[in-house]
Amino acid sequence: MLIDALVDLALGSHCVECGQPGRLACPACTAGLSTAGISVRPDPPPPGLVECWASGTYDGLLRRAVIGHKEDGLLGLSRLLGERLALAVRDGLHRTPGVASSTGVVLVPVPSRPGADRARGDDPLGRLVRIAARQLRAEGVDVRAMALLRSRGGVRDQAGLDARARTDNLAGSMRTHRRTVERLAVVSPRPRVVLCDDVLTTGATAREGQRALTASGVPVSFVAVVAAVERQLRPSRPVVGDPKAGGFLTS
Ligand SMILES: [Zn+2]
Repeated sequence: MLIDALVDLALGSHCVECGQPGRLACPACTAGLSTAGISVRPDPPPPGLVECWASGTYDGLLRRAVIGHKEDGLLGLSRLLGERLALAVRDGLHRTPGVASSTGVVLVPVPSRPGADRARGDDPLGRLVRIAARQLRAEGVDVRAMALLRSRGGVRDQAGLDARARTDNLAGSMRTHRRTVERLAVVSPRPRVVLCDDVLTTGATAREGQRALTASGVPVSFVAVVAAVERQLRPSRPVVGDPKAGGFLTS
C-alpha cells in the first residue's frame, strides 16, 4: 500500500511478523488477530487466581510485537498492544461472572522489577495500560489507570524459572503504594479493579499482584493481558465459537 511505503520511507521500518516494509504491524498480519478476547487459565493455576482474559495467544504477531515494544522500544507498536489490552479488559468486563454490576473500572499494571524499566528509561506496560484506558473511555467506559503496585526488590528475572520457582521468587515481592490506594478510595469507592500485564505465563506474577492488592483491601475482579503463553494453558470451560481458539481456551 502507498501509505505503508510512505511510512517506510520516513521510518525505514518493516512488519515485525512478516518483514514487509512499512508499518511495524502490517495490515495483513493485524487482520489475522482475533476480534474477541479469550478466557485463559494457567496450568497448573496458582491457587486462588481470579479469572484471566487475553486478547490472544503469545505467538506470531502478538509475541513479536510484545518483545519489540518491551525490549527494543518500538513505540510504533504501543497503540496496537494497548488496543489489544483494551479488548481483553472489555471482554472480561462483559463476561466475568459478578463483575458487571459495580461502579468505575481501574486498570492496575503489574510493577516491573526495580531498575528494569529505569535502566531502559521506560515504562512499557504503563504506556499500554494508559492507551487501553483511553480507548475504553472513548467507548463510554468509566475507567482510569492507576499504578497501585510497587516491587519490593530482590526479585530475580523470571525467565527460565518453572511455575513453582516463579511463585517462590515472587512471594511477598509486591506491595501497594499507600497514597495511591488512599486516592483510589476517594475517586472510586467500589472499583472494578483489573490487574493488567503484557504476557500471562504461569500466572505467578498476576497472583502476587492480586495478593498484594487484596492485602490492602483492594479486591481484584480479574486479570487482563495482551497475550497468554499457550503451553501453560488448559481448558477452563467448554470452547464456544471461535474455532481458532483450540481446545484449551474459551472464546
Ligand atoms: Zn506483516
